[in-house]
Amino acid sequence: MRHLLFATAALLSAPALAAPAATDWHAEGRAIYEHAIAVPTVTGRGQTPALAAWLKARFAAGGLTDAVIKPYDGEAALILRWKAEGTPAKKPVLLMAHMDVVEAKAEDWSRDPFKLVEEDGYFYGRGTIDDKQGVTAVTTALLRLKAEGFKPKRDIIVLFTGDEETDGKGADLAATEWRDLIDAEYALNADAGGGAKDKDGKMLGYALQTSEKTYADYTFTVHNPGGHSSRPRPDNAIYELADVLKTLAAYRFQPMLDDTTRAYFHERQKVEKGPLGDAMRRWLANPEDGAAADAVEADPREVGGTRTRCVATRLEGGHANNALPQSAVANVNCRIFPGVTPQAIEQELQALAGPKVAVKLVGAPKYAGASPLTPEVLNAYTTTVHKRFPGATIIPKMEAGATDGLYLRAVGIPVYGVDGGWIVIPDDERAHGQDERMPVKAFYDQLDHWHDLIAAVAG
Ligand SMILES: [Zn+2]
Repeated sequence: MRHLLFATAALLSAPALAAPAATDWHAEGRAIYEHAIAVPTVTGRGQTPALAAWLKARFAAGGLTDAVIKPYDGEAALILRWKAEGTPAKKPVLLMAHMDVVEAKAEDWSRDPFKLVEEDGYFYGRGTIDDKQGVTAVTTALLRLKAEGFKPKRDIIVLFTGDEETDGKGADLAATEWRDLIDAEYALNADAGGGAKDKDGKMLGYALQTSEKTYADYTFTVHNPGGHSSRPRPDNAIYELADVLKTLAAYRFQPMLDDTTRAYFHERQKVEKGPLGDAMRRWLANPEDGAAADAVEADPREVGGTRTRCVATRLEGGHANNALPQSAVANVNCRIFPGVTPQAIEQELQALAGPKVAVKLVGAPKYAGASPLTPEVLNAYTTTVHKRFPGATIIPKMEAGATDGLYLRAVGIPVYGVDGGWIVIPDDERAHGQDERMPVKAFYDQLDHWHDLIAAVAG
């Protein structure tokens, strides 16, 4: 903490830390990355305001001074605007990333998680992938464009949030209370999309994320009069709940295709020559073919891709070892297909559970449909990716998890996950996990990608 305060103060007063020469943007990006990793922005540690202040000062040193820090719940969001030169040609474009990271314990890691380490062609550290590389790339790209004399034809807005990994309140506030500060034609999210290579170094393609499944929890509750366990009753809350959960385990929701997933499976089946590809082709030919969709989801890479999925995640019941249970409750977690309401799933689950079990939606989850695959974004992303990987396949993607993008989509702002980095799968799939890392080459590709992509959509 002391060190961070000192670093911020030094930055604010030292002219030596102004933006470097245009030839050295990779080194500049690395320095920003190193600092961002060193601030342990795990939600609850109160460090996102420090990182937001540091970035705000960094932007200001490069001439981008129209920025505001929005504190909330001990965390902070940073919102920056780079105004169009003259009358804007289009509505603003919003650039998104998140400053917070998932907890990382030093004893679980081979290295200090909050120190950027470069080793064997990799950058190691918490947030190297999720999502300090995104924060760094957007920041570096804007500083570089500014130094190069770029004149945006539309307003460019930046939103860096402080709790994407936990509550998503920053994005929720941005979509509602701070809407006038971030309102845009669409958002480009640095926390989704991106490329994948196989272990032999072959580029497999880049994902363009246009939708996310909705997260929703439901309680399944059974009540019973109970009694003394020496005299079992014919009905029993635990048995009745268990029976319904077994029914749920075997239940499959109606498979669904939308523009994003149809395009995704169309691209995937081209490279899948065997039974998996056959199942994808059967399903694309007949979206009602539930057996074909089941066969697709039997592959671990495709789980959740064809429909809403729900699974029991927690259980509690009874109140004493020698008493018949008076209640039994399960939590069922669902990842709902975009565009389907959590209330519709609640009704379907209640019908499945029958009258003895009460199904109740927890809270009021945000939900949204897929963002339309607009040519402007698709072309800008494709052209930018192809600069570094000519001919690479661009695959529209529905994400099974959720990001801050969900909150903006829910209020009608389309969001596109268009990251430019890449990882080697499955070895580098370590976001949220131990020894998170990013290939050094991918990091520098990512810096150039955001520079080119922003120039394409705002130039
Ligand atoms: Zn993330």
